Amino acid sequence: MALATDKEILRLVNLPGPRLTKILQISVILIFFIFKNFKSSFIKLSKFSLLFVCLLVYDCLPAMITKTIFSLAASIIKFIIFYLFFLNAYADTVNKKYEPYEKGILALMYHRFEENKYPSTNIKINIFQKHLDIIKENNFSFLNPKNFELEFNNVSREKKILLTIDDAFSSFYLNAWPILKRDKIPFILFVSTESVGKNGYMNWNEIIEISKEDFVFIGNHSHSHEYLVKYEFKKFREDIIKSINIFKENLGYNSKFFSYPFGEYSLKQKKYITENFDYAFGQHSGVIDLNKDKYELPRFPINEKYGDLERFKFLINLLPIQYKNIIPEEKFLLKSNNPPDLIIEFFNNQLYINKINCFSNEGGEWKASKLIYEKNRIKVIFSEKFLPRRGRINCSMQDKDGWRWFGTQFTLN
Ligand SMILES: [Zn+2]
Repeated sequence: MALATDKEILRLVNLPGPRLTKILQISVILIFFIFKNFKSSFIKLSKFSLLFVCLLVYDCLPAMITKTIFSLAASIIKFIIFYLFFLNAYADTVNKKYEPYEKGILALMYHRFEENKYPSTNIKINIFQKHLDIIKENNFSFLNPKNFELEFNNVSREKKILLTIDDAFSSFYLNAWPILKRDKIPFILFVSTESVGKNGYMNWNEIIEISKEDFVFIGNHSHSHEYLVKYEFKKFREDIIKSINIFKENLGYNSKFFSYPFGEYSLKQKKYITENFDYAFGQHSGVIDLNKDKYELPRFPINEKYGDLERFKFLINLLPIQYKNIIPEEKFLLKSNNPPDLIIEFFNNQLYINKINCFSNEGGEWKASKLIYEKNRIKVIFSEKFLPRRGRINCSMQDKDGWRWFGTQFTLN
């Protein structure tokens, strides 16, 4: 859509003409203003101002219609009114709003299967099978990634489990894939393109083979899988572009899903990912709900240490804690912003905020975080600086529906 510059808008305001023309002009100008900064400002417009604009334009209509000279303009404006009303309804679905019945999507992150010499990234295959059984016994269904958009944008009355597997190790293909294939259990396999075909990793034939199933999605996990958060931006961008090109060469498309290597990203890198993908996953724990940032989706990391069955049962029953915002958005800490001033902003009508407790690992040790509860926000006061590489904060609460959880992660150089 062609957008008017400020000069053009001013010129329009100053045009001479009868009153009706003036009204028409002002209406057009108002609409131009709305569309000019559409993305940033439209969603922020209150319903009142939308209604005001619509009523103003609508009031002008009968007069315009009597003059044939204006009939075309009138029908265009009429179209715009319907468009505005439609977008207003749409804005409601994308606007952040507390949804008390939201059960969310719980994403699990696995890496290696039956590679027992790597306990921090491995799961024994018999334990993995038990995890799948527990999910079924609890009557949770698996989310097919092809329905992710729909499930994410709507209130989930029943919680869904999303399996994700990072790095595409051969041990996934050899040990876990036969089980998932047999039971048609959906998942996203995140692939770093540089390692494909190397010793211990799946090759493109295997990746293409599994990608043919309609319950399998291949996600992008960068090219090099280096500590990209430390890269200067140009080098970061090159790494991502390379992975996208290799995806296109081998699969014919780039994925709409991305997962940050090590769950690490800076704000600038995250912004770049938003331009090239629809969703991005981190490695901070928590349950996905419709108010979560699409480019900071939480996952529970599962390995031998944290894979025991009692913990797993507790974990898959967790519900989301919804929030409006976490400040700061920059998750990469330098000396100057460590420790960060962390504020979690909740919704005005959200209950039980004061029941939330948090733990954080500043100074290299887990401890109860000092929280200041305000009306609809919690300020987290850290007692000292976070140590490299990661600063983590996990918060939980219990209400009538069960335990709820969210976490956030900072990365340090
Ligand atoms: Zn990885």
